[in-house]
Order: sequence, then structure tokens, then C-alpha cells
Amino acid sequence: RGGGPRGRGGTQGAFGRGGGRVRGRKSKRAKRQEFEQMQAPAIGGVKVPRGNGQTITVRRGATLSDFADKINVDPAALVQVLFHLGEMATATQSLDEDTFGVLGTELGYDIRLVSPEEEERELLSSFNIDLDAEAAAEDEENLRPRPPVVTVMGHVDHGKTALLDAIRQADVAQGEAGGITQHIGAYQVRTRHEDDERAITFIDTPGHEAFTAMRARGAKVTDIAILVVAADDGVMPQTIEALNHAQAADVPIVVAVNKVDVEGANPQKVRQQLTEYDLIAEEYGGETMFVDVSAKQGQNIEDLLEAVLLTADAALDLRANPNKDARGVAIEANLDKGRGPVATVLVQQGSLQVGDAIVAGAAYGRVRAMLDEHGTTVQEAGPSRPVQVLGLDSVARAGDTFVVAPDDRTARQIAEKREAADRQASLAKARKRISLEDLNEALAQGKVETLNLILKGDVSGSVEALEDALLQIDVGDEVDLRIIDRGVGAITLNNINLAMASDAIIIGFNVRAEGQNAEVADREGVEIRYYPVIYQAIEDIENALKGMLKPEYEEVETGSAEIREIFRSSKFGNVAGSLVRSGTIRRGAKARITRDGVVVTESLEISGLRRFKDDVTEVRDGFECGINLGSFNDIQVDDVITTYEMREIPRT
Ligand code: GDP
Repeated sequence: RGGGPRGRGGTQGAFGRGGGRVRGRKSKRAKRQEFEQMQAPAIGGVKVPRGNGQTITVRRGATLSDFADKINVDPAALVQVLFHLGEMATATQSLDEDTFGVLGTELGYDIRLVSPEEEERELLSSFNIDLDAEAAAEDEENLRPRPPVVTVMGHVDHGKTALLDAIRQADVAQGEAGGITQHIGAYQVRTRHEDDERAITFIDTPGHEAFTAMRARGAKVTDIAILVVAADDGVMPQTIEALNHAQAADVPIVVAVNKVDVEGANPQKVRQQLTEYDLIAEEYGGETMFVDVSAKQGQNIEDLLEAVLLTADAALDLRANPNKDARGVAIEANLDKGRGPVATVLVQQGSLQVGDAIVAGAAYGRVRAMLDEHGTTVQEAGPSRPVQVLGLDSVARAGDTFVVAPDDRTARQIAEKREAADRQASLAKARKRISLEDLNEALAQGKVETLNLILKGDVSGSVEALEDALLQIDVGDEVDLRIIDRGVGAITLNNINLAMASDAIIIGFNVRAEGQNAEVADREGVEIRYYPVIYQAIEDIENALKGMLKPEYEEVETGSAEIREIFRSSKFGNVAGSLVRSGTIRRGAKARITRDGVVVTESLEISGLRRFKDDVTEVRDGFECGINLGSFNDIQVDDVITTYEMREIPRT
């Protein structure tokens, strides 16, 4: 991208007076402002009100339309402005930082691209809840160890629910608290570990569905995953799916080899099978802890808990400051007939207190009461503690983040802002997160470096064949093709959630996403491509990837001519009377001049080409012609004019 468009924009800010939007009846001053803005020189015939350097934030991946919305102008006008700045874009196409930069400079706005998380931070900081400053000011001294948060995943019927039950029973604090009686979406147990009693928090919804759904919404809740594999059944499709989800989220895994009580159970085989997926048992020199358990008989559950703590201590630094306002995530919520909206939140930092004003997603309120998994009321909940919260005005969604606000009013205002942002985002969702068609562009803009794929097929043979073939595609070093999940059967909500969380494209080979799933994919902008034959899928992806590779150009000489005589013309400047020596000289071609083999100048253009008195478009070798090089006049007899063009090098 040249410096031209940018340079031009430098002073534009001076034209703007205030900018921004004018609502309702316009005051005299507002009218005057508007008038002044309209006096700003039109860009390519389009008049757009100018900013005066104010900062406008838009979400990463935002389009001209999104930006147009923020400054209250017609998106079509911005398309035109951009066009005149030498950039082509449609109103609904995502733009990269550079393009927004050029546009912002031209229009007098400082456009900042932010991630949804940053946007959230910004929203909060506009209410004086500054998470960044908070994190920066966090003193090592204030950090205390916190319990790991664990999700149990695995194939259906391998014993996830049974294991969560067995772990509940293994709680050494049971006696005092009277056992875990309430399902609130998560529970905490205590276990003895090297003379200490330590707590572990379990998400009480088995399976990776909830895990991925939350991740798709940007919430990271799980520190460690327990992968349950039944020893009498071995590794099954959802085992792999669960594993993929955990690995994609960079969450360490502890493997619970379950049902070791069953006759014919073969725990070693599970270890062997999983080596294929980079889960290598410690006893084989790997890093993953495998524990043989029987959920049904409550066997070895303590060992499993111990393995979780050892893995957490080895792989993670789980600490948080309990002495500040609470922040965390809502993991479950429902509308209770008697108690109104109830949300289970997992506190991640700080401590939540009864009486705090909180906002969880678009729900807000004052914490009226808190209950734990024993049904006991609690006054305070620290890091990694799940509690049911009463007192919100509406039902939060799983995965919504929550924060404590300084007062009720602020909580309400944050909730309202979030609701408005949600509404906008759902409007914007209509477009695809990533699609094969725009891969090329996404790559050129540096937005993606990896093509993540999820493969689903009708039989495992074809999925494997497809995967093998895809992995054979030579994509070079610039892009990375990753198959993050594969499986047999229809495209599930789960697949779609993973695609959302990882910006993946789903390939359906003889299978489809049905009903609601197709709707969700559509609404969330997840691309699903259906193929009846493998080679078509491969061809499409190969082509998309090749397009995805930034084109490389090489210079190709198209013609050369020798200057024989120079005609001086007051009207055209110097004209080089030349003999074409090779190839063809075309009008408009790029040209350079060499004198005795040394380049005199580059980047000229054949601006005029004549044979006798006629303007011609090209002259072949062996013919004489008059060549005009625009304003460049420093030519001499015997100089050689070489024309060339830049050709894209085809990829092999
Ligand atoms: P989920 O689908 O993964 O949640 O599996 P469940 O926890 O519902 O267990 C599926 C079936 O396996 C149930 O009938 C359980 O009683 C049984 N089961 C679970 N764990 C064990 C175990 O350790 N030993 C035996 N023999 N059966 C088990």
C-alpha cells in the first residue's frame, strides 16, 4: 500500500468541528456545525462529515457499515470515499486495520480496532471499572492460590455422570456440610493432598458441549479437563471430540480410565489408543496422568483428584486476589418460580458479597442472597467458588461475564449498554466469520494464518480419506491447514460451537446440519460446505488455499527498443525515435531506460506511441516508432527503452 492516500489525509481533521451525531431538534449551533462539516471538500464528489480527531472504536472484523453507523453516515458514501483513496471495498466486507487507518486519517477520526474482549473492557472502563489497570496494579503479594476448575468430558455412557457423583461422595468435607444436595451447575469438593486439604471445583454439566458453548462466547472457565474413557469400550468418537475441544482450548487433560471393575476391561489399551492423539501416559514417558477408576464402586477417586491437583500444580499457576470486587462468569441460570431469576456464577477473581451490585451479561441487580451446593446460604464467595445468586432482574446466559459495579445505577447502565451491543452484534452476525470464498482476502489482510476445518461424514472411512487427502495438500509455509475435529454423523450444535470458538469452516460429506442447527450456523455466521464427492471438497479447499497464498509477482520483459533519434516537441516533450529490437512495445506499459547497460531510470510509462503520424497501441520488433515517456525528457541517442510487466507467479 502506498503512502499517497495517507499523506493526503493529514490535515483533514482541521475541517471538522465537533462531528458526532445530532439528535432530535437541531440547535442553531448544531446546524452551524453541520453546515461547516458539509463545507469540507468533497472526496471524489462525496460529502462526508469530518471528525476532529475523536477516537471511534469498532470491533475487529468490522465493516464500513459498522463504522458508518458509529459516525452516523450513509455506508455508500464511505464506499465511495474509500474508492477514491484507492481501496475497493463493499459496505459489508470486513476491513483491516490499515484500511480503517487510511479512511480515519482522511475523515479525521482515530479509528481503533478492538476485540470483543477489549470492547467489553472499554465498556467497563467507561464506567470506571478498569480491568487492565486493576491487573497491572495487582501485587504478587495479594495473589492467593485458588482451586482448579474442572470439566468432565468423554464419550456417552463412559461414566461422566457417574464420576461426577462419585466425586461428590468423595468430598472429605461432606460430614460437616451435609453432602452436596443441590444441583447448581458446579460444586466444590475438598480432598486431602500431601497433608493439606485442598479444594477442587467441578462444573456439574458433563460433556464438552457446555464447555465449548461457553468458549464460543469468549468465557474461559475450565482450568483442567478430565477425559473419561471406559476401559471396556476404549476410545470412541466423542472421546476424540472431547479431546479436540480441550486441546483447542489449551486445557491440560487428566485421563480417568473408568469401569475398571468390568470384566474384560483393558485400561492399558486406552493408554495405547490415546498415544495416537498426543496423550502419552506418564508411565510411558509422557506428561499426561492416567488414573484407573471405577465410578460405580467409588474406586480410586482420591487418586484422580490427586492427579488433578498435581497436573494443576505442574502446568498452571492458579492464583487470584480474593480481596477486591468480584469478577467471573455465569455458568447456569434459570427462572425460578418462587425466587425469580437465579444464576450460578463462578467467581474468578475477588470476592462476591451479599449486597454487591452486580451485572452479569445484560442482567443486573443487587445480590440478595447466595447459596452454595449444599443449599447453605453464604455471605461471601472467593475465587473458584461457584454460588447461586439471587437478586438479578433477568436470566443471564451461560458464559456471560459478571462484574461487581460500584452502585446499582452503574450496574443497570452497563447492562443496558451490553444489551444494545448484543442487539447490534446479532444484526451484524448475518455475515460469515470466515468462508472459503473470502479466505484469500482474509489472508491478504493478515486476519487469518490458519484454515481450521471440521470434517463430518457419513462413514468413518470417508472422513479419514478426506482428512488424509487434505493433509497432503502442499500449502507452503505461509498458511496452516488444521483439522481441529472430525467425526461421523450429522453436523451437531457442538460442531457449530467449536467452529464459532475456533473460526473454523465445517465440511459436511454426505451429511448435513439439520433444523435448528442449520439456523444457528446461519445466524452465527459459521460456514458449512456440503459435498457429495471427496475430490470436489479437496479441489475447493486447495483452490481456496492457493488463493489464500499471497500472490508473488515476477518481472517479465515484454519488449525493448533502441533510441535512434530525438525529436523535441514543445507540445509533447521529447519524443524518442526508436527501433523496436525485441518483443512488442505497448502504450501504457511500464518502462525503464538503460544507458550502456546501466539503469538510468525506472518506473516510467510509455505514455505515447506513434508510427509516422498515427497513434498506435503497439509496435512489434523490427519496426520504427516514436515513443513518448510523459514528463521524462532526459533521454539520449543509443539509450535502450525496456518495457516490462509484473506477472503473478502461478503456484504449483
Ligand atoms: P455418561 O453418559 O458418560 O454420563 O455415563 P453415565 O455416568 O450415565 O454411565 C453410563 C452407564 O455406565 C451407567 O449405567 C453407569 O451405571 C455405568 N457406569 C458408570 N461408571 C461405571 C463403572 O465404573 N463401572 C461400571 N460397571 N459401570 C459404570
